[in-house]
Amino acid sequence: MTRALPDELLKLPHRTDVPFSKLTTLGVGGNCRWLFEPTTEEEAQIFVRACVREDLPYRVLGGGSNLVILGDIEIPVLRLRFPAELQREGLKLKAPASFGHIRMAQGAASEGLGGMEYASGIPGTTGGALRMNAGAYGTELVDILDTFRFLNLDGEIVEKRPDPGEFKYRWSFLTAGYVGLSFTVKLAEGHRETIAAKVAENMGKRGSSQPLSKRNAGCIFKNPPGQSAGRLIDQCGLKGFRVGDAEVSPEHANFLINHGHATALEFAELMNTVRAKVSDVFGIELEPEVEIWP
Ligand SMILES: Cc1cc2nc3c(=O)[nH]c(=O)nc-3n(C[C@H](O)[C@H](O)[C@H](O)COP(=O)(O)OP(=O)(O)OC[C@H]3O[C@@H](n4cnc5c(N)ncnc54)[C@H](O)[C@@H]3O)c2cc1C
Repeated sequence: MTRALPDELLKLPHRTDVPFSKLTTLGVGGNCRWLFEPTTEEEAQIFVRACVREDLPYRVLGGGSNLVILGDIEIPVLRLRFPAELQREGLKLKAPASFGHIRMAQGAASEGLGGMEYASGIPGTTGGALRMNAGAYGTELVDILDTFRFLNLDGEIVEKRPDPGEFKYRWSFLTAGYVGLSFTVKLAEGHRETIAAKVAENMGKRGSSQPLSKRNAGCIFKNPPGQSAGRLIDQCGLKGFRVGDAEVSPEHANFLINHGHATALEFAELMNTVRAKVSDVFGIELEPEVEIWP
């Protein structure tokens, strides 16, 4: 992007030219030209309002665990860096959007609050979990969501309860431009040891079925209705199929892994090959579950 950024933005905490390999779990991608890292809601609001006023597109980044970045991003990227603190009030637990989702689940467990065990293996931030309505083992965030705060497309802070239709399978209405700021979940009184055991069990299940020792972005494709994307890819004989340093995981076919030096091009080629093969063999068009930038 050649246009200069307004001073108001440049006064906010920011860095330039940060490689996306350092900002995402997959470790693939180009350069993040402008990374804005507000430490307060007010700074985040200044960011959104300045971008809106200047008609400047921007993107929001959390822990980068659901992203495949296939090139440089020249427009401003917002990554919240709010103070990491959980607040408990009775059975409710509140976290800022930059808080780790797994850390929040662990925090709930150590408070003896049950209901967040599903999140124990889902990396990334609570902001990303809110946007994606993250879930596992039959529970998703909206099931326990009490209230959430966000910046709307005019940069105004809104706090509300979830309404029907606002959160669906791996989707929420907080799409491009909205910024989740925090949320509160409503949990249930439980026994610390039982909750901690469930958390450990969920983590263990993942360790035995997912290639967690290699960089990855979780499941790459959505499960088509009534089907498992991983099984379809496996039945095409693609486990272990490799383009350079990018590979269809031999452990879990819906995980594409980076052996260390995969390039964006290699990843794009691998994803295209998988989609084309599944389409040829089963006539099913796989949709990405990950978000692809740019
Ligand atoms: C090993 C592994 C296992 C996984 N298992 C699961 C699983 O079981 N279930 C599941 O649901 N997901 C899973 N995921 C995917 C991923 O962890 C989740 O989607 C996660 O919630 C994304 O959070 P993030 O902070 O990393 O978001 P990012 O990847 O940074 O961003 C994802 C999306 O959220 C948006 N976003 C991020 N922060 C905000 C914010 N504050 N406000 C508004 N929008 C925002 C981004 O713009 C983007 O659209 C897994 C990923 C990995 C690597």
